Amino acid sequence: MSNSALAANLHLVRARIAAACAAVGRMPSEVKLIAVTKTIPVPVMMDAVRLGITRFGESRLQEAVLKTPLIQGDVEWHFIGSLQSNKARKIAMLFDAIHSVDSPHQLPEIAKAGRPVDVCIQVNIANEPQKSGVAPDSLDALVAEVLNYPNIHLRGLMTIGPEVSDPEDMRPWFRKMRELLNQVPHGTWLSMGMTHDFDVAIQEGATHIRVGRALFGDR
Ligand SMILES: *Cc1c(COP(=O)(O)O)cnc(C)c1O
Repeated sequence: MSNSALAANLHLVRARIAAACAAVGRMPSEVKLIAVTKTIPVPVMMDAVRLGITRFGESRLQEAVLKTPLIQGDVEWHFIGSLQSNKARKIAMLFDAIHSVDSPHQLPEIAKAGRPVDVCIQVNIANEPQKSGVAPDSLDALVAEVLNYPNIHLRGLMTIGPEVSDPEDMRPWFRKMRELLNQVPHGTWLSMGMTHDFDVAIQEGATHIRVGRALFGDR
């Protein structure tokens, strides 16, 4: 995609963030934009950095291993994909933050990286079968497990949520996420909202939105 198309998309995304914040009296600086770059080539990502993007979200270790050494500049890497235990150590070595912790088995592997890493627990907020994330009822138990690891810094919660055609239908789920955040000691991160629903997510308290298509077009 061209640099000017990306610049225009970024402008629109920032306008949506500003409007959603204005609607509920929040400051746009409270909302961190994570540019989701799975399948997006490195030159486009370098354009994104030049346009002011400072956080990338990737969902596959293999892809990130190739990309991270090629991107210059002060950027944060956020892992947002499903977290296989056998890859968790390498993911924790490469990424600044992992949004998708959902099992106690991942924790010793993350700890083996031997460096501090920010994590969110992914919540299957609507209890959908076959979906990643811990059930809301099991959140307390996983929080207690994570707190056993001094290098694993539990920042908050992440959700993807059910697929709905009207983003308004996500509001009750996002609201539940904000309530669940009270179960995370010192939890401040709410990673929720994607291209089609980040406006509603911001209105309901999202601190990290993960946006791919609105920036880079359809994958
Ligand atoms: C792909 C992906 C996104 C971005 O979705 P878009 O609809 O492209 O904005 C956000 N979060 C996760 C976990 C993803 O896998």
